[in-house]
Amino acid sequence: MAETSIESGERPSLPMAGIPQPLREEVLNLPRVHISSHPVMAHKMTALRDKNTQPPEFYRLVKEIGALLAYEATQNLALEPAPIETPMAPMIGRRLAGGIGVTPILRAGLGLAEAFREVIPDIQVWHLGLRRDENTLQAMEYYNRLPHKVDLQVAYAIDPMLATGGSAIDAINILKLRGIPRISYVCIIAAPYGLLKLSQTHPDIDIYVAALDESLNDVGYIVPGLGDAGDRQFGTF
Ligand code: URA
Repeated sequence: MAETSIESGERPSLPMAGIPQPLREEVLNLPRVHISSHPVMAHKMTALRDKNTQPPEFYRLVKEIGALLAYEATQNLALEPAPIETPMAPMIGRRLAGGIGVTPILRAGLGLAEAFREVIPDIQVWHLGLRRDENTLQAMEYYNRLPHKVDLQVAYAIDPMLATGGSAIDAINILKLRGIPRISYVCIIAAPYGLLKLSQTHPDIDIYVAALDESLNDVGYIVPGLGDAGDRQFGTF
């Protein structure tokens, strides 16, 4: 879709108009896609989506949902033995093996990054600025604080909304260039279109989703969705 508009030199204002989209049912069982079925998640999602939820409450909910996603997305992490002494006896405990990185896609990913830091405080946070062109919906990199030296067992690219999949695919491409052994993608709401694209482009990553919605509208927003996740977190309407 974006490629066509660039080739023709046109700047469509309705970049998703007329673009076929997969049905929700068609992407429910994609390999390595994990869609939450937890009732507490569903409860919090309803409060998050509500248009009357104001930015302070919205941000708090993003962090709570992010913490639930962080638990789901970290359930298979590798552990190593850690000898310690409790007040009662020596024992071999276990700790997470190797570093863990989280890459919030700016700026909407910042609330989720906070959530991951609350769950795993010594996580590394690598900021990545990807802005989408409102006409073409293509992702453009404007900020990158990924370190050159990487020693991680896993990196999570995080962004609340998986819409067309453009910035998600770009973020994973950027992380793959750093040679990270394992990469996952975490979002709050996915549209079937973006989920299918991401899963097909990067079949080797796990994708964690709190809710799978119906479709994208003509301008590429998720429906029913929650509106603009950045504006709603930071009060910039
Ligand atoms: N980004 C958002 O913030 N919301 C959408 O619905 C799609 C992309």
